[in-house]
Amino acid sequence: MPLLLLILFIGVLAYFIWRHNATTLTRNCRWREDRARGVWRCAFCGAETQSRDAPRDCLRDRR
Ligand SMILES: [Zn+2]
Repeated sequence: MPLLLLILFIGVLAYFIWRHNATTLTRNCRWREDRARGVWRCAFCGAETQSRDAPRDCLRDRR
């Protein structure tokens, strides 16, 4: 089934392109962990969020 493999390959390629664009859009965010208060703070836009792991998205538009 070469056609199926081709479709799968295009799907994976599209996924990586989408991931690249998503990370480019939020590359300005610099999340720093504030252990004293238990929050993550973005040094770039000043957004804060309570999370166990580093946030991936910029919360700039939600403020
Ligand atoms: Zn940010």
